[in-house]
Amino acid sequence: MRSENPVMNHILDAYKPMWSLGHAISLMGWDFETYMPREGTEERGIADSQLHILHKELLISKNFIGLVESAKKLGDLSDIEKGIIRVLDREITKQIKIPKELTEAESLERIRGNMTWRQAREKSDFKMYEPHLKKMIEIKKQIAEKIGYQKYPYNALLDLFEEDLTVDDMDKVFNVLTPRIQKILKKLVNSESPFCKESNLGKSKYDIQRVDELNHDILNLLQYDMKRFRMDVSTHPFTESMGLNDVRITTRYEGADFKKSIFSTIHEAGHALYNLQCDQSLSVTPIEGGSSLALHESQSRLWENIVGRSIPFVQLIAPLIRKHVSFANQATDDELYLYFNNVKADYIRVDADEVSYNLHIAIRYEIEKKIFDDDLSVSEIPEFWNDRMEQLLGVRPAKDAEGVLQDTHWSSGLFGYFPTYTLGNLVSAIIASKMRKDLEDYEKDIRAGNFKPIKEWLRSKIHKHGSAYAPKMLIKNTLSEGYNPDYFVTYLETKYLGI
Ligand code: MG
Repeated sequence: MRSENPVMNHILDAYKPMWSLGHAISLMGWDFETYMPREGTEERGIADSQLHILHKELLISKNFIGLVESAKKLGDLSDIEKGIIRVLDREITKQIKIPKELTEAESLERIRGNMTWRQAREKSDFKMYEPHLKKMIEIKKQIAEKIGYQKYPYNALLDLFEEDLTVDDMDKVFNVLTPRIQKILKKLVNSESPFCKESNLGKSKYDIQRVDELNHDILNLLQYDMKRFRMDVSTHPFTESMGLNDVRITTRYEGADFKKSIFSTIHEAGHALYNLQCDQSLSVTPIEGGSSLALHESQSRLWENIVGRSIPFVQLIAPLIRKHVSFANQATDDELYLYFNNVKADYIRVDADEVSYNLHIAIRYEIEKKIFDDDLSVSEIPEFWNDRMEQLLGVRPAKDAEGVLQDTHWSSGLFGYFPTYTLGNLVSAIIASKMRKDLEDYEKDIRAGNFKPIKEWLRSKIHKHGSAYAPKMLIKNTLSEGYNPDYFVTYLETKYLGI
């Protein structure tokens, strides 16, 4: 991208080495999760933290800050240019406030804590992981203090993942969402809804190679350009973007319950589409890619749940499933639909259905809030977790591996991240509601495998802007909404209760 403004061009030129470091860090992150030999961990930890330090030095160099400061004073910037300055200014402000020692400590603890967490989860032994969790929380508390905040220290951490997100925003969401979801869940269970009946389709072992072919066939149906995109395998599926033209996803193959693999693939592909459809003019700028984690998650959840688990989409892919999954070759469209949309209050977040999912997030949010309010000590977390699971979902984990040890986030220092999942779900329902009003043949198009209108709608309203607009602003401008939970609750009530 070139600007008419010489200061902006200086900034974009000076940003290129930072972008390149980010590119390398992303590629190393992808490699760490996919192909890196296990013993490479410690060395990779050093390389990763050193590249982060280099990135920070470039970002907060006198020269670069000077450029950004002078651009802030310019009056005639375009929205794109304003976005670039907003993103850089936010990043600089945070990095200046966080001392080098803390960044390094977090980076090292992330690698060590994560390794210990993996072992602790295998042994279901929270005590083994507890000192690392304590250490990471200490580091995050210091970071929150250095960044500064209004009202709650936790606000500083929320803002790191979702621009301007506050405890007040999330309290408002969960105060409405939690009781309404509990109500839907209760109704489903009490009425012995067909959605609650467990399907046999999830029980048989599948041929991994055939389900891999099935996933690729689905990506093909969704018209992914394999010249700019690829899919590999990892334990926890993710999307990593090296730039706008090298976007990679992973999926998982556990050998049984094939819907997990299919919907992980569709979920991550939804993330990837956000980057793939960002305007190419934003390539190698600070605003390439998505506006925020919640906006990103809205895209993955839209494709995974609202499109992917809908009747017309299931009808579209059913012949492919019958072709690749031997024990499903007689399954009817309805059987597949109910298998994909089975509702069960259970322990594990990543396996949760779309009705109960946000209750899992509500618990994590409560715990994080309490931790940073000094209202809950680390040793009390497992018990509190189990109590809240029982109250909200009606199940009590028998061991820590099914409870507090199930997620990787805290060991990686990701406090404040979980709420973005719920916001993503809420925004996906807002988007679907608006999109259906604009696209007359929405369902017919899905049934016919014509995804162009949906993709084009998403591109023009959301994807093309990259992160030029802050998430709250983007949602307000393009959807005329805020983090309103009503659309999501209505979506669930319509789909599951026929209301
Ligand atoms: Mg996701």
